[in-house]
Amino acid sequence: MNSELTIGAERRIRKVALLGNPNSGKTTLFNALTGLNQKVGNFPGVTVDKKTGTCRLPGGQSVEIVDLPGIYSLYPKSLDEQVVLDVLLHPGGKDYPDAVVVVADAANLKRHLLLCTQLIDLGIPLLLVLNMVDVAEKEGIVVDVEQLRHLLGVEVITTNARKGTGVAQLKERLPHLQPPQRSFYEVAPLIDSYFEASVKEYLPPGLSAYGQWLCIHLFERLSFLSESQKDAIQRAILHAKEPFKALNLQREEILHRYEQIDAILEKTLHKKESKGSYSRLTALLDCWLLHPVAGYVTFLLVLLLIFQSVFTWASVPMDWIDASFSDFVNWVHEQGGDSLWVSFVADGLLAGLGGILVFVPQIAILFLLLGILEETGYMARVAVLMDKVMRQFGLNGRSVVPLVSGVACAIPAIMAARTIPNAKERLITMMVVPLMSCSARLPVYTVLVALAVPDTLLWGWLSLQGLVMLGLYLLGTLMSLVVAWLLNRFLRMEQGRSFFMLEMPLYRLPRWRNLLLTVWEKARTFVVEAGKVILMISILIWALSSFGPGNAMEEAEAQVRAQMQGRFAPAAIENAVASARLEQSYAGHLGRIIEPAIRPLGYDWKIGIALISSFAAREVFVGTISTIYSIGSEDEMTIVERLRSEVNPRTGEPVFNFATSVSLLLFYAFAMQCMSTMAVMYRETNGWKYPLFQLLYMSAIAYISAWAAYQWLS
Ligand code: GDP
Ligand code: MG
Repeated sequence: MNSELTIGAERRIRKVALLGNPNSGKTTLFNALTGLNQKVGNFPGVTVDKKTGTCRLPGGQSVEIVDLPGIYSLYPKSLDEQVVLDVLLHPGGKDYPDAVVVVADAANLKRHLLLCTQLIDLGIPLLLVLNMVDVAEKEGIVVDVEQLRHLLGVEVITTNARKGTGVAQLKERLPHLQPPQRSFYEVAPLIDSYFEASVKEYLPPGLSAYGQWLCIHLFERLSFLSESQKDAIQRAILHAKEPFKALNLQREEILHRYEQIDAILEKTLHKKESKGSYSRLTALLDCWLLHPVAGYVTFLLVLLLIFQSVFTWASVPMDWIDASFSDFVNWVHEQGGDSLWVSFVADGLLAGLGGILVFVPQIAILFLLLGILEETGYMARVAVLMDKVMRQFGLNGRSVVPLVSGVACAIPAIMAARTIPNAKERLITMMVVPLMSCSARLPVYTVLVALAVPDTLLWGWLSLQGLVMLGLYLLGTLMSLVVAWLLNRFLRMEQGRSFFMLEMPLYRLPRWRNLLLTVWEKARTFVVEAGKVILMISILIWALSSFGPGNAMEEAEAQVRAQMQGRFAPAAIENAVASARLEQSYAGHLGRIIEPAIRPLGYDWKIGIALISSFAAREVFVGTISTIYSIGSEDEMTIVERLRSEVNPRTGEPVFNFATSVSLLLFYAFAMQCMSTMAVMYRETNGWKYPLFQLLYMSAIAYISAWAAYQWLS
């Protein structure tokens, strides 16, 4: 065991885990240690972020650093905490660290040391970082580090992770970490007094006595234990020598630890008269920001700012990306001529790529703003302000920001739901966000509202069309709250009892480096992870509308050309050709196949084609409709007039009558029709179950409401 005598032993530390209470500064320290050398994934089977990175040490070698979720103790209350135990109690597992760095808030040592003493008892090489020394100092707290090191029996250093002080020293110490010198809570005799020695055969090898003790307490939730191991431990507990009352034992242990911590802090912590400037400023700001009136007004203004920036400011770079890509597509067409390959590259690949990159500005801006709110400490106040209202609907105070952002775009909004700590509330939020009217619905609404609603002014000043538009936004919001309420009632999810630990961080200035890292990481994740799915679907839709059975497309094209040659302008002919080709493509055939299903909603097969092509992105509706009715890009202003004049050859009625237009409006208000959203849901929930459920329930609402509206109005 005594490996410190071997020189080679030092090379053993290759993987170091960062652990600590939430908000102790783990992530900041992680960023300081790893810089850009990091990647984010999920822990297997759950949606808990797993951040890993590489840290270069002064000696030239490097260690892998893992930023584990914040936890308060080793008795887990939430999914996040469970993940940590899955890692720490499984010495054979691939995530098992060679050493842990415990990050504690020097200004709140008592609470943060509880976890530290538990980790010490696991016997893994360990170093305690007293972070936030700047805050502690401002509050007049002085820690005798030397004494603390002596009493805890582990290495202790102080850092200010925001400024990077102490990080060099930490890097220097990392390769030399040793197992703790003493333990705090002796459980070996306890185990012996409850259980036969045979119980140890079912526990993972390589654990300290305390690790074994935790395994027995938590076996049901440890994912690495096999069913037979779980059964064996269960049996051991049932046949314990005396009744094994887990909760009592845990309470006793925690009390015992706190007693020891008190004694240690008595000797190591000195409080000078506080200057108090920090907390006085915080108290003053809270007076304002948590005020029952002023607090809400301020929050409303903040929401307005977020909304404005994601909606308006982002549109500048988005329009630029959009325009550049369509220029590029046109350019490729001009250069490449009329081959299938050119069409594939331009209309399939490039168009798909543009469809991915166009979302990046919104994602970047939203996460920059959210990061500022989170880092300054304001988000914690928002959660408190909005919690009572949102809880009625099964949502969380922190759901407000994702929902409001959803009005711009569901993709960053769903990603923003990660700040919601409770798994069920987070899932419900993600489920209903796409019902909010996102900006991609706007072009569709514009056309359809113009078709359905007369362009008149109410009382001489209020635009009726504008009013209907506003109504559509309210409808989306209302529906998302209704669905949230229903999901909350009927969705069964296993949830740890959540002891709500309300902790108001002090207000601080945001760290730009941290913020930019977050923004970079979110944008990259979206492009890489969701991008794959979006690209695939774009290519599929391209193929459906570029190919058709037999050579029907070519024949239709030849026929149109023969009829129109010389009698019409070239542009008009090309439009008619595009329309004829689309009618004969697989997409066109699919439109006819689904016609019986959509006729009750008032749609014909041409609208069916538009529904299919806009399955991946709803804004495609307008483009497809223009192609089908061969409306050229030069006269786009007339699209509404053109649609109005379209007559159903079978009935002689206008196709886009009032009932059909309203039915379409409702359909587009509620239908999923966004592959990017599904791709993000897939990533965020780690599977297809929830995105498919979302697709299903939204399609059902869309279909039923469109059907009801059409039947009622026609
Ligand atoms: P985590 O929850 O443990 O990952 O904590 P974070 O790294 O997200 O930090 C929480 C907040 O504390 C952020 O606003 C950080 O900027 C801030 N913070 C982290 N370390 C320090 C520090 O040493 N001093 C000060 N003043 N703030 C810090
Ligand atoms: Mg963190």
